[in-house]
Amino acid sequence: MVPRMSTAPDPARVHSAPVVFDPAFTRALPVFAAGSVWLVGAGPGDPGLLTLQAAWGLSQADVVFFDALVNDAVLNFAAPGAELAFVGKRAGCPSPKQSEINARLIDAARAGKRVLRLKGGDPYVFGRGAEEAQGLVAAGVPFRVAPGVTAGVGGLAAAGIPVTHRDVNQSVTFLTAHDASGGLSARLDWAALSAGSPVLVVYMGFRLMRVIAEKLMEAGRPPSEPAAIVAQATTPRQKVVRTTLGRLAAGEDAGGLEPPVLVVVGGVVALAPVLGVGGYAAPSDDLGC
Ligand code: SAH
Repeated sequence: MVPRMSTAPDPARVHSAPVVFDPAFTRALPVFAAGSVWLVGAGPGDPGLLTLQAAWGLSQADVVFFDALVNDAVLNFAAPGAELAFVGKRAGCPSPKQSEINARLIDAARAGKRVLRLKGGDPYVFGRGAEEAQGLVAAGVPFRVAPGVTAGVGGLAAAGIPVTHRDVNQSVTFLTAHDASGGLSARLDWAALSAGSPVLVVYMGFRLMRVIAEKLMEAGRPPSEPAAIVAQATTPRQKVVRTTLGRLAAGEDAGGLEPPVLVVVGGVVALAPVLGVGGYAAPSDDLGC
């Protein structure tokens, strides 16, 4: 059985961090025990979207293992003495295997460190966080998950696209079109998605967006249906392109966009001109530097 964390604060470790927590207030926050791992969601980019639990964990971690999607402005919340270990994929370099990342988390925890595994968005949404958690449970390492704001909800909201609206949709589907090899997944049922999902939010769909749009149209969705591409949501480089399924399938509108990118299909996109007025007031790149 994996030990549970207690809820008493650890004020002794709080003061070296960029964010200083009032000790009275930290009674509501969990203890980050030495020898444990926190699996933390960093949100979509804007450090203002970190949870209090994430900032609290960052203020105490001895080592932070982070992915490519994690914004530097978020890493600035780590305590000055913390070791920052990049374990993501960098262009041209092989990415570390999942088993290696798991082994590094386990080794660091067994060495008595407070280990913070920081993942973009929410750790359990298309991020292999659950696999890392399974590895920790199997190794008997105590862990806690600190959920984050997932890009497919918070990133779209920042773009003026609510994932639901009572007049538009009573359900929403989050999907990734990839399989493990990076190709289009054969496990997606396009007819069912097309018939049953008024709003579709596609993660990791940048390279595959033409084929995704084609599949949806083949399955009956009209080429005129509203769609949007939202790039680098909640950062100073956020871009929102409103388009249609037909234009997506023709490969139009994606020029000049840099990943990470979400693709959203459905009537909620039509709200963006009203709700996205003025764009997203993301903090500047210089924040905290
Ligand atoms: N765990 C993450 C998702 C990891 S998969 C989460 O909950 O958000 C990586 C995909 O997430 C990217 O390919 C992209 O589709 C999406 N994504 C993450 N951050 C994003 C951002 N700031 N803007 C747009 N898309 C983003």
